[in-house]
Amino acid sequence: MKQPLNVIKIGGAVIEDPEKQRAFLDGFVALKGPKILVHGGGRIATEIGERLGMEAKMVEGRRVTDDATVDLVTMVYGGLVNKQMTAKLQSLGVNAIGLTGADGSIIRSVKRPITNGVDYGWVGDPVEVNADFLSKMIEAGGVPVIAPLTHDGAGHILNTNADTIAGTIALAMVDFFEVNLALTFELDGVLADVNDPESLINPFKESFFIEMKESGAIHSGMIPKLENSFKALHSGVKGVRICKYDQINSNHGSLLQI
Ligand code: ADP
Repeated sequence: MKQPLNVIKIGGAVIEDPEKQRAFLDGFVALKGPKILVHGGGRIATEIGERLGMEAKMVEGRRVTDDATVDLVTMVYGGLVNKQMTAKLQSLGVNAIGLTGADGSIIRSVKRPITNGVDYGWVGDPVEVNADFLSKMIEAGGVPVIAPLTHDGAGHILNTNADTIAGTIALAMVDFFEVNLALTFELDGVLADVNDPESLINPFKESFFIEMKESGAIHSGMIPKLENSFKALHSGVKGVRICKYDQINSNHGSLLQI
């Protein structure tokens, strides 16, 4: 029988708030057994970029990862955010190992081609996970802490959605572990009405996702979260939950069903 593994993702907005981040980390520390943490980046890179006099490059409302931006996110997500989180976990007794997808070739991606006329720049979509190396690190007692950066195998760092990284790692690890994935963020889970915190949907069925996406009740960052989560469930991940950042040791939130 395979050993359980928890893959947990923390969103950028939670990282930015020290109290929320601490509440998340306390829960993560209390979580027993093998675990992997994937973190987002959020607005921290934009704020630091502004302090350095850089302007965010936007095309059709989307931030484009141009040459200067990929350098910035490499420094901020792969450096500051990743190493601060690693140091905090070490101070709480967790043997955290801070990594990007380039380290140990944990995640190799392809640069996203121009889609509907939009050139996203240095953005990557994962194609290969070094699950064998990750599992060896875990067997050695390490807790990988992974920044939302991957590499293309040709020397470039690619900015990569953290929910996609978490889902991709979870499904790659099913060969070695019985994997559970939790995507945590500021809200309680998937809401029927994003403005009504009382409208949590649990369990949350895939057929409902398709309906809610069409009606517009699910939008923006929730779409990649759910797309990656259902893909992971179809590929052998045991359970996926979307929940609040301080609920990883509970069964609160939206448990996904296919
Ligand atoms: P994070 O980076 O914190 O993980 P994202 O901003 O990528 O989060 O995605 C979460 C966001 O998705 C929420 O803050 C919310 O605004 C949005 N969202 C859209 N539809 C829904 C929904 N039906 N239920 C919950 N959140 C939703």
